[in-house]
Amino acid sequence: MIGILGGTFDPVHLGHLRTALDVCEALAFDEVRLIPCHLPPHRGRPVASSAQRVKMLEAAVRDYPAFVVDQRELGREGPSYSFDTLTSLRAEPGAQGICLLMGMDAFRDLTSWHRWRELIELCHLVVMTRPGAEIPAQGELADFIMEHKVTGAGALRQQAAGCLLFQPVTRLEISATDIRSRLAEGRSAGFLVPEAVRKIINKEGLYRGRQ
Ligand code: ATP
Repeated sequence: MIGILGGTFDPVHLGHLRTALDVCEALAFDEVRLIPCHLPPHRGRPVASSAQRVKMLEAAVRDYPAFVVDQRELGREGPSYSFDTLTSLRAEPGAQGICLLMGMDAFRDLTSWHRWRELIELCHLVVMTRPGAEIPAQGELADFIMEHKVTGAGALRQQAAGCLLFQPVTRLEISATDIRSRLAEGRSAGFLVPEAVRKIINKEGLYRGRQ
């Protein structure tokens, strides 16, 4: 079974990496794929180029063989939809069970995602719960939770897709937005990103004076 974490990774930070490692260990994934998006459908263009975001990701996971940077979305024209990414992962020879990892903030927005109801036919959804996270209690998303929620990891191995799991992870209140604004103000990203990423940011002068 593999885990997929998509994101802008502008830049990748310890919030992404530690939580992905927590889920990887808890659910005994064979692999975690970090998939940087090309044009995020929900927001503006990333500040760093695709090549810079990949370079930071690769540096971040260099010592973690279970973590793989998957560039498939960067090679596709137009917006990066998870639906298309999951469809292409499913079509790979020998495709195994797939768990799409997302933070609670991303999960709250799920109903705005392209073909959102069909995503769970292609994979399991694993929502990493973080500080202040309240599980939606009303509306379409609450109904979706009722329909798909499982309480233990065992269920994820019994079927290829269709389960929703809330997985507690180490709470790290770190966001790329906050890191970019610190850097724009001339402050450091130290201890918020892996050291190798901090070095790339400094060397390439990324995020200086802009947000
Ligand atoms: P930004 O501040 O630019 O919006 P971000 O830090 O939220 O960026 P993204 O690349 O947008 O990072 O996030 C990719 C995925 O990682 C999303 O599913 C998001 O919920 C999750 N994520 C981001 N930061 C954390 C964190 N500190 N803990 C757990 N999950 C996180």
